[in-house]
Amino acid sequence: MAKIYLDPGHGGTDSGAQGNGLQEKNVTLAIALKTRDFLYRDYEGHSVRLSRTGDQTRSLNYRTNDANSWGANYFVSIHINAGGGVGYEDYIYNGSISSQTITYRDRVHAEIMKQVDFNNRGKKRANFHVLRESRMPAILTENGFIDNAGDAAKLKSDDYLNRIALGHANGIASALGLRRKTGGGGGNTYIVKEGDTLWSIAQAHNITVSELKSLNNLTNDIIYPGQVLIVTGAVYHTVQSGETLWGIAQLYGTTVDAIKNFNGLTGDTIQPGQRLRVK
Ligand SMILES: [Zn+2]
Repeated sequence: MAKIYLDPGHGGTDSGAQGNGLQEKNVTLAIALKTRDFLYRDYEGHSVRLSRTGDQTRSLNYRTNDANSWGANYFVSIHINAGGGVGYEDYIYNGSISSQTITYRDRVHAEIMKQVDFNNRGKKRANFHVLRESRMPAILTENGFIDNAGDAAKLKSDDYLNRIALGHANGIASALGLRRKTGGGGGNTYIVKEGDTLWSIAQAHNITVSELKSLNNLTNDIIYPGQVLIVTGAVYHTVQSGETLWGIAQLYGTTVDAIKNFNGLTGDTIQPGQRLRVK
């Protein structure tokens, strides 16, 4: 069981950097919570602990002591930069480190850069407390500059925070070799259980019996427990208030373009209550 320690920077009486109407502590918490959610949604075989799940004040010692005593396998500290730059960078300790620290960092860096369009300021090293005092591989990410209007606009978008968090989750999963979940929202096969009928399986997957039979080249209605059936059919989603095409694509493991193609959408505008084919 891989143990992942997420450390949203600052909190409580320590707001961190501020700019453009944002406080660092709130943005880091949002990214950390989303990262946790993506890790549990998409992967299995791990547990996640956070240094805070709300607006608590946490000393640097608390954070590293907590991760050390829990026996975390990876320490990921999430921050927002300030001071006049633009873009994303990350840090590992500038003293003695394991080769694993570098490998993990490379994977996290690559996955985050796949999701975001931040200016890439590169992979850096520094003598930060959380990197030095943690007894496991550790990384500190700086996700844009709060005092840069362009970066701050991205950090105000919930969609963009999802992208940042998905990059963190995929990077951590790649570093630790987590298994991606099968089944659930993105699954396309079903194992027949005792008592199932073609009709009950078709109902459960929002397809017709004849679609189910043609997907599986079945010439009669006989199925048996343990049989693996292809159940990929059209999947529909009803748009909820506040959802975006990107968010819905993430939910079903597909792309914005694929959803737009299925539904003949020319723009990105969707309405609550709209029924979209997503697969
Ligand atoms: Zn910070």
